[in-house]
Amino acid sequence: MTYTNTFFVKSAAKLSQCPTDILREVAFAGRSNAGKSSALNTLTELKKLARTSKTPGRTQLINFFQVGEAPLALVDLPGYGFAKVPVAVKNEWQKELDHYLNNRDSLVGLVLLMDIRHPLKEFDNAMLDWAGETGMPVHILLTKADKLKRGPAQSTLLKVKKAVADLGDLVTIQTFSSLTGDGMKELKRRLNT
Ligand code: GDP
Repeated sequence: MTYTNTFFVKSAAKLSQCPTDILREVAFAGRSNAGKSSALNTLTELKKLARTSKTPGRTQLINFFQVGEAPLALVDLPGYGFAKVPVAVKNEWQKELDHYLNNRDSLVGLVLLMDIRHPLKEFDNAMLDWAGETGMPVHILLTKADKLKRGPAQSTLLKVKKAVADLGDLVTIQTFSSLTGDGMKELKRRLNT
């Protein structure tokens, strides 16, 4: 499947604003600054599809992207941990995110992005727990792999693999770099299944 004909459909602030619930959707989730926008941009080869920003947490809406004619949507979830947002807004977003994750029939899987230098933070573990409880498949991207030498990158990969081993086939995991394109083929292969 090609991802270069992906286009923006809409932003939703809450579940009721999401597009009709008929496609297969894969949602991209991660802490702010994990490299989510960069990964979506690299995957689709569209530089500005998901806005990349140095300000953590710019993506505060659920953004829907349609992959050409394919019955597949990529969903950019709000980056977790946006520092400059007031607590009340944060809580509201958490509620909407929970609502989306637990009620969206089209959702078939999650791509969970973690900076390879800071994997398995509280948010990541909460998402993995949720996946285990609901049976939602998760594909983990250890992002910015170019920041580590091959040895340390592989040992982090092994460490995280071990940590999620109890979830069995539900979780797959790989290293990834938007900068070098490392891991792109593997990601596409996983999205195509
Ligand atoms: P988001 O908040 O998860 O959407 O993260 P962004 O995609 O905006 O990336 C956050 C920061 O990390 C930006 O400064 C990006 O340039 C940088 N970044 C993202 N992916 C990579 C990568 O693969 N390698 C390197 N070295 N930097 C990256």
